[in-house]
Amino acid sequence: MNFNSLIFLQLHIYNPLLESMLTVFSDDNFMKKAIQEAETAASLGEVPVGAVIVCNNAVIAKAHNHVEKLHDITAHAEILAITAASNYLGSKYLEDCTLYVTLEPCVMCAGAIKWARLGRVVYGASDDKGGFMKYGKELLHPSTKLEFGIQNERCSEMLKNFFKAKR
Ligand SMILES: [Zn+2]
Repeated sequence: MNFNSLIFLQLHIYNPLLESMLTVFSDDNFMKKAIQEAETAASLGEVPVGAVIVCNNAVIAKAHNHVEKLHDITAHAEILAITAASNYLGSKYLEDCTLYVTLEPCVMCAGAIKWARLGRVVYGASDDKGGFMKYGKELLHPSTKLEFGIQNERCSEMLKNFFKAKR
């Protein structure tokens, strides 16, 4: 066996540990992009929540909260990102996509996530008051994978600072 075929073999041996490390790394990375969106929201006087939607390891949509600017309570980051991603893909279903959002989605957004059949949802900070989880994961589509707590501290710190400054 020559050296090249050895490398080839190594690349093609399935390594679950490596795979999960890569997932964690990219989750972190994509959540940072959602955090950038949330920071933009804060700088515009919007509640700092940001979202990105990723398909095949590429960001296809990003959005932040626009409730104040649009005078529209439905203009949450998740809803805007889902609309943008669906437009981009020309598909109402987002089964091959992951939504990264800095805050636990509300019930309205959980409904949109369900109807869009997101493949996976990753959120940062929990929202005990307004989040959907107190009603349970059942609000999402049964095939949607769910993860949370990624960049949790940074995500919740942004919200705390925003509301502290408002007082
Ligand atoms: Zn929402």
